[in-house]
Amino acid sequence: MSSIDVGVCQCPRCQAVDEHPDRVLHEQMNLLVSRLDEAQRRWYAAVEANRLGHGGARLVAQITGLDEKTVRRGQEEVAGSLADVPVKRQRRPGGGRPPVEKKIRPS
Ligand SMILES: [Zn+2]
Repeated sequence: MSSIDVGVCQCPRCQAVDEHPDRVLHEQMNLLVSRLDEAQRRWYAAVEANRLGHGGARLVAQITGLDEKTVRRGQEEVAGSLADVPVKRQRRPGGGRPPVEKKIRPS
């Protein structure tokens, strides 16, 4: 698998012993965050924070391990429709279908 570490939620409810219904969601949020680049992470956190409303930025910061200031910056960027962020269509190395190797190399 990958060497990317998936963060563990640090919110008070996940730190408690009792199960709670959002635990899986928080795990999945961290899973998603681990696969995003820095900017995407910030924007995703921002959208989640917006969804939660008051106190959302702090809670999302606790869940994802991002800095609360980073989440707030993401909220500002998202609120501004990411106007300052150029759209780049870049494929990651190794993304997409594997190349079809026609050549047969002697081993
Ligand atoms: Zn949590």
